[in-house]
Amino acid sequence: MINKPKGTVDLTDRKARIWKYVEEVIDSVMEKYNYNYIRTPIFESTELFHRGIGDATDIVTKETYDFKDRGDRNITLRPEGTAGVVRSYIENKMYGTHNLPVKVYYNGTMYRYERPGKGRLRELSQYGVEVMGSNDPLMDAEVISLAYNINKMLGLTDTVVHLNSLGDKESRDNYRKALKDYFELHLDDLCADCKERFVKNPLRIIDCKVDSDKDYFREAPKIIDYLNKESKDYFDKVCEYLDILEVKYVIDPKIVRGLDYYNHTVFELMTEESKLALGGGGRYDNLVKMLDGPDTSCVGYAVGLDRLVDELIDRNLITNIRDDIDAFIMYVNEDEKKNAIYLANELRMSGFVVETEYNNKGLKSQFKRADYFNSKYLIILNSDDLNEGLITIKNNKTKEEEKIMMEYIIYYFDEHLSDDNLEIGEECCHHHDHE
Ligand code: AMP
Repeated sequence: MINKPKGTVDLTDRKARIWKYVEEVIDSVMEKYNYNYIRTPIFESTELFHRGIGDATDIVTKETYDFKDRGDRNITLRPEGTAGVVRSYIENKMYGTHNLPVKVYYNGTMYRYERPGKGRLRELSQYGVEVMGSNDPLMDAEVISLAYNINKMLGLTDTVVHLNSLGDKESRDNYRKALKDYFELHLDDLCADCKERFVKNPLRIIDCKVDSDKDYFREAPKIIDYLNKESKDYFDKVCEYLDILEVKYVIDPKIVRGLDYYNHTVFELMTEESKLALGGGGRYDNLVKMLDGPDTSCVGYAVGLDRLVDELIDRNLITNIRDDIDAFIMYVNEDEKKNAIYLANELRMSGFVVETEYNNKGLKSQFKRADYFNSKYLIILNSDDLNEGLITIKNNKTKEEEKIMMEYIIYYFDEHLSDDNLEIGEECCHHHDHE
């Protein structure tokens, strides 16, 4: 038997249905906020991530899936979504052809060579948004509240945004110096990674997962105290707008995010119950330029769907996904079977969820199969009735049976299955809108 690779998951059964539901909610909320869906390649040139995310970051130094393709090109499976979207923005010259800001969202798999563990996969899924071409604090606030509201729509009403600001370059330079001065005194206590960070990028020491509960960590300088006036004003505006948007947030000096490209606003999404962050993001005003595009202010975030769906399942928050079917069509002989094929097609194209028998098994086995799928109705075909244009419909709950003309079946179901069955092609999300 061949097993799946370490750090990957199979999405099946109920979890797969919940996953699809979550994606529907995301799609429908994105539509309201007027974010366009974007899909970029799962593999890109290795250089994109080295330049984009930063050579000194954990993601790029330790965690990427890199390979040479048969044409000897250096290829990397994307570890995150932002770099690809920004590359696409530049390559397609969206800055010239679109009205700014450009607001997009994506949803797809990312690849990180991490040590697999709880909430840590090697193939993970993220949905995320990127907004390119606005440096208005309103944009930061909108993006944060979008993430917050999607969580809320899914039932995570205890979502809290952990918010911080990295300020502008001047503020960060001052802070970096303060950090160096501070950690210089604790150099021997730092973990091996942090010793390296101390040299390459002291800001990231704050991100350390190993020592973060030690005293000298708690007393370390906080960036918020090193913001210059402009940066402080910017951050205050973001907070003010978040208040209007009724987003629940706390200011958390530990949030610095792992990547090189952030400035000003950074945030992570938690709930009161989640131990690991569900998502995170922030403002990145330098990335487009670093990737040879025009100076463009951006803000975005990504949420891990694996963690999100796991939490929804663990907390049993999704109760409204379909766990039954409308009808099971039963038959025995070839003549009945042909009618079953015809009927199933008619009903499905009218928006009903229909199942039938595919192994020519007897009625007893078909009853079991119908129960397995929690069929609301059984449609029992028999040749004598069919000759007169009749079919038997049995309500599988009340066990009541009646014979009706086969040609009236759609009207019958329209009347009896009053819930929100959708016709194929109809927008599939409208029934979530009011939840
Ligand atoms: P990041 O930008 O690295 O903070 O990732 C954003 C979100 O993606 C995280 O908050 C997680 O929900 C998810 N995520 C990141 N890495 C992994 C991973 N290795 N396995 C599962 N989910 C992940």
